[in-house]
Amino acid sequence: MSTESECIFCSIAEQAVPADVLFDGGDTLFFKDINPKAPVHIIGIPKKHLVSLDAIQGDDHAMIGKLLHEATHVARDAGIFESGYRVITNVGKHAGQEVRHLHFHIVGGEDLGPLICNASSL
Ligand code: 5GP
Ligand code: ZN
Repeated sequence: MSTESECIFCSIAEQAVPADVLFDGGDTLFFKDINPKAPVHIIGIPKKHLVSLDAIQGDDHAMIGKLLHEATHVARDAGIFESGYRVITNVGKHAGQEVRHLHFHIVGGEDLGPLICNASSL
């Protein structure tokens, strides 16, 4: 399992930093976002340190597919499966990626409205 020092999500994966863990998939982990932007805001990560979606390689395909499937089960357990939810991953600067360890936001629990992007340049 490749990890990186100074990476907060690697530290959570190694249980060196506490988190409110909802599901441990072995090579994946789901925990509550520390600063939720919706009534339900869960973070899903591969335990392996991958900087973003851009860093995925062939060996990772099955694990990432499994992670997305697990996300649907985590959403069901969180009570947002029927009402609907959104799965988001930010990649790089323009997406506002703050934590440079691949993660998927699972958000729901209220009407999220349309997917809003900065329309100033349109
Ligand atoms: P990004 O902007 O990189 O896509 O999202 C990073 C997310 O990680 C943010 O929603 C932020 O609240 C969350 N986050 C950052 N540090 C921690 C932490 O130490 N613990 C938990 N549970 N979430 C964190
Ligand atoms: Zn990491």
